[in-house]
Amino acid sequence: MKPRTLQEAVVYFADPANCRQYAIEHRWPDGVVKCPRCGSANVAFQEKYNRWQCNNRHDRRQFTVKTGTVFEDSPLGLDKWLTAMWMIANCKNGISSWEIHRALKITQKTAWFLLHRIRLAMQPDNGGKLSGEVEVDESMIGGLSRFMHKDKRERVITGTGGKDKTTAMGMVERGGSVRAFVVENRSRKELQQKIREYIKAGSAIFSDELASYDGLDIDYRHAVINHAVQYVNGNVHTNTIENFWSLLKRGLKGTYVSVEPFHLFRYIDEQAFRYNNRKVDGGDWERCSQVASRVLGKRLTYAELTGKVGETSNN
Ligand SMILES: [Zn+2]
Repeated sequence: MKPRTLQEAVVYFADPANCRQYAIEHRWPDGVVKCPRCGSANVAFQEKYNRWQCNNRHDRRQFTVKTGTVFEDSPLGLDKWLTAMWMIANCKNGISSWEIHRALKITQKTAWFLLHRIRLAMQPDNGGKLSGEVEVDESMIGGLSRFMHKDKRERVITGTGGKDKTTAMGMVERGGSVRAFVVENRSRKELQQKIREYIKAGSAIFSDELASYDGLDIDYRHAVINHAVQYVNGNVHTNTIENFWSLLKRGLKGTYVSVEPFHLFRYIDEQAFRYNNRKVDGGDWERCSQVASRVLGKRLTYAELTGKVGETSNN
């Protein structure tokens, strides 16, 4: 019985046997537990410690379902991890660490760290180049400093040379997937390099009249919509990518509120994950499973996340 709603998921993940089985099936897709060190399936489960021991002779023979994944070294139970995973995979506007703090009875700081490790699992693999009809657009995100304390604001703004907005670039294949990320600037070199990296030559590209897109018609069919004149001209528009930006900004303004530019890419990854899995068969269960099957081989320590030890954040 697969849960279909959050309420059913909470009940399902409250059972340790369900959690263990779920985690096993998603990190070892054939359902066979294998030693992360040597790959052997000749392992023995130690019920008392909730771990396995490899029967081959080598260092670090003991492992748990968390070893080598985003869950590694976390004292939190899988019941909390998997419930949080279900929520962030399925809440359209994201879910804040304050909400997770209240829902799962863990500290806000722990919830914040947990959510970022789940976002790491949500980070897209290289899913191949976009093709067909592709809309391209950039968006300035921020003015976020207004949410900061005055002392911090002065420090941050001085530190970044007076700029407090971050530039994001997005590309969406109509009827397909989005690719979105932070870019250095809106220069022709930067934007066109990304376009060539992510969009198959010969595709149709739709953009606004930003001069940085000039010259794309050598490798692509490029149509420009002049937003000073109109927003849609037949099939020439950028409404699909603009819809993605408004979803992203709704989460940033309504749910997360005080995201620092340093962490912005993780929230973009999160929104892109939900967008790209919006039509999966199996709904909420399948979206959660998509995240659960990407936890392997990814680590994020608190120091790596914050850029320095001891700093915390508030969203
Ligand atoms: Zn082994």
